[in-house]
Amino acid sequence: MKQSSYFIPTMRDVPADAEIASHQLMLRAGMIRQTASGIYSYLPLGKRVLKKVEEIIREEMDASGAIEVLMPAIQPAELWEESGRLGDYGPELMRLKDRHDRDFVLGATHEEVITSLVRDDVKSYKKLPLNLYQIQTKYRDERRPRFGVLRSREFLMKDAYSFDTSKEGLDVSYEKMYNAYTRIFQRCGLEFRAVEADSGAIGGTDTHEFMVLTEVGEDTIAYSDQSEFAANIEIAPVQAEYTKSSEAAEVLTKVETPNVRTIEELVGFFNHPADLMIKAMLFLVNDEPVVVLVRGDHEVNEIKVKNLFDKGVVELAAPEQAKQLLNCETGYIGPIGLPANVKVVADLAVQYVVNGVCGANEPGYHFQNVNPERDFEVSTYADLRLIQEGDPSPDGKGTIQFAKGIEVGHVFKLGTKYSEALGASFLDDQGKSQPMIMGCYGIGVSRTVAAIVEQSNDENGLVWPTTVAPFDIHLIAINVKDEAQLNLADKLYDELRNSRYDVLYDERPERAGVKFKDADLIGLPIRIGVGKKASEGIVEVKLRKTGEMFEVSVEELNEKLN
Ligand code: ATP
Ligand code: MG
Ligand code: MG
Ligand code: MG
Repeated sequence: MKQSSYFIPTMRDVPADAEIASHQLMLRAGMIRQTASGIYSYLPLGKRVLKKVEEIIREEMDASGAIEVLMPAIQPAELWEESGRLGDYGPELMRLKDRHDRDFVLGATHEEVITSLVRDDVKSYKKLPLNLYQIQTKYRDERRPRFGVLRSREFLMKDAYSFDTSKEGLDVSYEKMYNAYTRIFQRCGLEFRAVEADSGAIGGTDTHEFMVLTEVGEDTIAYSDQSEFAANIEIAPVQAEYTKSSEAAEVLTKVETPNVRTIEELVGFFNHPADLMIKAMLFLVNDEPVVVLVRGDHEVNEIKVKNLFDKGVVELAAPEQAKQLLNCETGYIGPIGLPANVKVVADLAVQYVVNGVCGANEPGYHFQNVNPERDFEVSTYADLRLIQEGDPSPDGKGTIQFAKGIEVGHVFKLGTKYSEALGASFLDDQGKSQPMIMGCYGIGVSRTVAAIVEQSNDENGLVWPTTVAPFDIHLIAINVKDEAQLNLADKLYDELRNSRYDVLYDERPERAGVKFKDADLIGLPIRIGVGKKASEGIVEVKLRKTGEMFEVSVEELNEKLN
């Protein structure tokens, strides 16, 4: 590619909201431009990297036996009604109407669409297992889009969905994806760690997040310094005693709820199809126990109320009735300002509810990600103490350390939540109908690009790993007015391309200093400068990563590059 006619609008001053290195560098190197808040255009360099990452993902997904499809971004709202998520997903789900006033959503994820597809076309166990994936644009109206394409509102995701006939089958599908993800992120040159995204205490290995380790990560990983234990602290087991929770359990026993004796049962009792609770409180309203659940992944004022004695059947329309019931104006529900007939019995440990409701012991509860502190104030609730650095590791081996991470991938055993809700069943070898057992597996493709940049840069700019670099070589004709230089550079440009290198050729009439600065900023792995020694057939090679520089004759160049 000749740089004079290419499109790399580099930028000197980045907007103030570009707080982190990857966001700044992607803007400065002309990879992306913001079109609206959290909505980005990819310029040629950005698009090339995206494509490289996509190709790595495709190769590994195909090698794992997954099959590529492409589903629509626009989905009929009825499908989400069928799965029960239309209300539960909250304001992150973008909704729209067509000209006939029919309701649609912009796909935030594709469980509904894929399940309805498979439901209609797969009927027999003979066609299973099946793993279908796509690389496609997703829409999430994030409360706080930031860090460029790391957390955007429109982004590229690879999402895969597996369908099996048995739990053991799902285990196999899951492991294949886990291994494929490991290879994908290795090939992207990332330093990452797969962490448990469910409770070490309750769950097994039903969901893992792939975390790129970096200080700017929004997630905190708790890991043991002496064992394999690693978990997202949003689900890591709480170390402190459940003081208030046990009180709650006691109260529940006292009030003779036939089905609920312990917090575990309470949590199971909700059987709530929602994705995540961050807060549960037990109140007595006119001496009748009422549990209030506050949704963590939604706006704070989305409140669901269930009357325990109605066995969870009655769900008061949230949030207005809940607010009325508890006479509270804001999202904060606490003892302050409650009417006389409402008494707070207990704060149920938030973390516990998170584990219980979204954790692996309740198959099908895909959770939506809630990070304490980022998403709600932990300090408001004194009884809750999250795991901390220095705590003993839950597996008894070693001490807990913290690290920051960016979630680039997530693998999840769904179970039968969607297949049951949407009726995706198969006939087993006995001719009996059974729900398919599903898994879902996501990679943020655009986020992965940003994560790579975040890990691969220095004070001069980007430092691309060779596997994902937009071009392999930056060839520079240092002084284009010098005929010998220009001729040799032209010749090398053709030769290198014939040797199957992707070459960005800087033949712009710019000063050497400008060209070198741009080359460092863009960060291609190899820079070849054709300068004063062109007449002797000698060029200068610089390796971006190490800064190593050496002169080499044109004849030896190919050999040196290998
Ligand atoms: P997060 O915790 O960052 O909000 P999530 O848990 O909501 O992510 P998933 O539903 O697990 O995301 O989606 C699969 C993958 O899609 C994530 O692992 C992440 O890499 C990517 N992703 C999710 N939200 C965004 C976003 N707003 N912008 C870019 N990538 C995203
Ligand atoms: Mg998450
Ligand atoms: Mg999210
Ligand atoms: Mg996730």
